[in-house]
Amino acid sequence: MEKLRTVRGVHDLLPNDLHKHKKVIEAGLNVSSKFRYSEIEIPIFEFSEVFKKPLGKSSDIVTKENYIFKDRSDDELMLRPEGTSGVVRAFLNAGLVQDIPQRFSYFGPMFRYERPQKGRLRQFKQFGVECIGISNSMADIEVIFLGYEFLKKLNLTDKITLKINSLGDADSRLTYRKVLINYLNDYKFKLSNDSVKRLSENPLRILDSKNEIDQKILINAPNVLDYLNEASKERFANVCEGLNVLKINYEIDKNLVRGLDYYCHTAFEFITDQLGAQGTVLAGGRYDGLSKMLGGVDVAGVGWAAGIERLALMVQSEYIDNPDIVLMAQTEVYNHLLLPIMNELVNEDFKVEIIYTGNMSKKFKRANKINASYAILLGEEEVAKKVIKLKNLSLGSEQLIDLNQGIKILKKILHN
Ligand code: ATP
Ligand code: MG
Repeated sequence: MEKLRTVRGVHDLLPNDLHKHKKVIEAGLNVSSKFRYSEIEIPIFEFSEVFKKPLGKSSDIVTKENYIFKDRSDDELMLRPEGTSGVVRAFLNAGLVQDIPQRFSYFGPMFRYERPQKGRLRQFKQFGVECIGISNSMADIEVIFLGYEFLKKLNLTDKITLKINSLGDADSRLTYRKVLINYLNDYKFKLSNDSVKRLSENPLRILDSKNEIDQKILINAPNVLDYLNEASKERFANVCEGLNVLKINYEIDKNLVRGLDYYCHTAFEFITDQLGAQGTVLAGGRYDGLSKMLGGVDVAGVGWAAGIERLALMVQSEYIDNPDIVLMAQTEVYNHLLLPIMNELVNEDFKVEIIYTGNMSKKFKRANKINASYAILLGEEEVAKKVIKLKNLSLGSEQLIDLNQGIKILKKILHN
């Protein structure tokens, strides 16, 4: 029979991989909560406006990578490609403007119709944080600090580099935009098709191009930092100074941008050279314009999102699921008698598996295969005497013992 496949770029997560994802999420939640970021959950699909309005016509994730569909009420919905828009929408809907700052963390699946490769999927997960309502540069430092501590918790700091840049405020950005268009216009016939399109719509996004020829052209492009006005320059210097105080190393990368229109000032990425082309593991920036684009009042925001799959590929952690105790009856007739024993043991927090079938030699093979530490055996003699046989599987030693006594011994050994 032909196997049913999963959709391209969409994967099952079997226990070994899921375990690593959970490690990443646990570390994220743990560190975020210490920075007082509270976890929230927002819908996986929304009216497509939530993404279209702020992300705009020129962003890939809305134009080329979207999963848009109509539901039975003819509403246009979109599977979320990212978390920030939804989080800010939720913040506005809940009327939290009156109660800023708000600090949120979230994680869950995102959907983008991309060309699948290692570390690039169509359904992937992000862990992210958003700090809403603080325009001061201290908030930029705070979220980078939090991102760094998150990666530190995963033991990854020696495998990653922090890159930062500033796009400046709206004025600086506008000035730079003109200068950049001017420069790139001279290379119009060499630029990639995508970049030519972006030249009029969103020229800053070209800085982010992965096309090799584009990248060569960009080497001598005007530097955004040279076009920051005084206030924006000072602000960027403050962010850098904060990182110096924290002794977090960084490189300034003049071509680092967040491609979307609502970003301003600080942009940053933590990258690694261990994942091939998909080297960005965590990316973020300031998005002061986003709330207004969603129809809300002007509220500042800064945050980041990390790719859980990419981090999971780097995390060293083995999934161990061996039972403390296996239960085996000499004959299947006694299997029922193992159930109350299992009941007591799981209530005492032991990991237990009953091995139901096969002869004793097969059962021991299974116990060995799953690396059990102890076995409880029930045979004719044990049943008659109302005791159990407790066997230490690594030493081979065994004793006939009352169940409660046995539990006491196991607790002493295994729970210490
Ligand atoms: P890239 O340049 O790799 O396409 P991006 O700029 O589209 O990344 P963001 O929108 O900033 O990515 O998302 C934040 C993080 O989410 C990325 O740094 C990456 O780790 C992860 N990510 C983004 N797209 C994917 C994907 N298709 N599959 C797996 N992880 C992804
Ligand atoms: Mg992308």
